[in-house]
Formats: sequence, C-alpha cells, structure tokens
Amino acid sequence: MNRLDPPDFFDDDAALDALSLNVLLKSYPHLQQHVPSIKAGYAQYIAANGNVSAINKVPLPKPIEDYLKNLYGSQPGDIAYIGEIREESDPDCCPMCGSFHSGTLDHLMPKAQYASFAIFSRNLVPACKCNTKRASIITGPNAGERVLHPYFDDILGERLIATRFEDLGLIPRVTLRILIDQNNPHYAAVTFHIDNIVRRTSILRYMSKSWNRMLRHPSVAAAELRHDPPSLAALQAILESELERQDITHGSKNNWQSVFISGLLENHVLDWLLAAFQRPGRSHNGSLLPSLI
Ligand SMILES: [Zn+2]
Repeated sequence: MNRLDPPDFFDDDAALDALSLNVLLKSYPHLQQHVPSIKAGYAQYIAANGNVSAINKVPLPKPIEDYLKNLYGSQPGDIAYIGEIREESDPDCCPMCGSFHSGTLDHLMPKAQYASFAIFSRNLVPACKCNTKRASIITGPNAGERVLHPYFDDILGERLIATRFEDLGLIPRVTLRILIDQNNPHYAAVTFHIDNIVRRTSILRYMSKSWNRMLRHPSVAAAELRHDPPSLAALQAILESELERQDITHGSKNNWQSVFISGLLENHVLDWLLAAFQRPGRSHNGSLLPSLI
C-alpha cells in the first residue's frame, strides 16, 4: 500500500474533447453530447477526493458505455498517455497491497460498473494482480467501508499494518495487525481495504518465508545481524534502522518487507530472537534454531 502522486502530465477533459471530435473513431459523433456529463463525473470524482462511497455513477446509454470501455482497450492517439501512467508513477511496491510484484494499470472503480471512468486518469492506478482478486468489491455494508485510493488517501502514507508472529519457532503463527486506532476516522476504510485487498494476496506466505529465511540466515533480515547483537537494545536498534531503510528504499511504510520487520519489533519477538542469537553453541551467522543446522 502506498500514497501516490496522481498523474498530471495531461488533461483528462481536453483528451475527452479530442476523442469526441475524432472522426476516425466509431464513437463519433455519438460521444459528443455526453461529454458534459462525463466531465461532470470527473469533477465529482475529484470533489469527493476519490472516496468511492461518495462518487455517483454517471448514467450513460449502453452504447456510450461500450465506446468508453473499448477506447480504454484500444487507446487511440488522443489517450495514448494512458500507457505512460504506470511508467511515470513507477511504483516500487504495489500501491494497493504493498507487494513487490509487478503489475499493470487497473481501474479502481471497475469499468464494468463505472464505464464513465474507463479512461479517467484518476481512476487508473498501477497495481499488481491483487486488484483483480478483489473483483468488483469497492464498498462494504457498514459506514466508511471502502477501498482506499492511492491518489487521494493520505493515510496510505502512514504505517498501517505489521506482521504478528506468535507461537514462535520454526513455523510460527502469522497474522496481520492493524496499527491505527479504532477511533481513527479512516479505521473502517483501512480495515475494509486490508480485508478485501491485502489479505487476499500471498502476504502471509511472504511473511512465513521471510521468517524461515531469517532463522536460517539472520543477516538476510538485516545485514547488521551478521554480527550477533550484544543486547536487546542493540537488536532493537538494528531492526529499527532496517525498518527505516526499507521504508526509504521502497518509498512506502507498507511495503511487505517493512511489514515483516515491524513484526520483529514487538517485544515478545525481540526477546525470543535475542535468546536464539545467544543460544550456546550457535555458530557465527548460523541458524537461530538448532533443528535447522
Ligand atoms: Zn498489489
């Protein structure tokens, strides 16, 4: 998950005008009379700050909806910029889920239900396959439940989740912990987004694998762990510094590696890790569990 700057190297309204006047397209001249209502839809989208619960569907005749959906697929010269949105934003981690998987552009409000936003740049977000796993779900039944929007929701720039490791050992129990307070006005949206997008990914498998790799080779979690930390404070400082490094490297506090390291910083995990580092007979940068030798 990450907050992104919206693409701003072109003008959506001007592009829509150009499309509607393009005599080479099948949509000509039918699209022209709907341009004002589509532009009003764009303005409404921005006025609602990308809050999908507050954005109304723009009623359009079925053929016009189909034109817009097909225009996204064919991307004529008037909207060739769409292909550049992903490259321009170049997210190092998926803004929707925080994974390092590469992806494509996706419609935050699905074009099947919201055809008016099929070619609207603010609705086109770079994302990995997580965005297709959520299907068309964008809101929940309770107040405030909605997907977060990388171009609008500043809370995506805050640290929202950490891994929770319990029953520590070779195969711990791994879950996700939400870090913001229940009284936070964005709590319902954040939990909805995590439940419907992040939890549907392979994030827990990533955390389990990262844990296992760390037990075998501690320095893969943080390079400084190639030397045994002499104290709890030293271990904590190493992991805090690694967390900051990952945040900066990936430009996000919710990239999966930061979510992993955050989980190691819980007191019961730090205690367990230090004891494992100090296990008698352990070889230098050797495994943290005797069973892994
Ligand atoms: Zn993703």
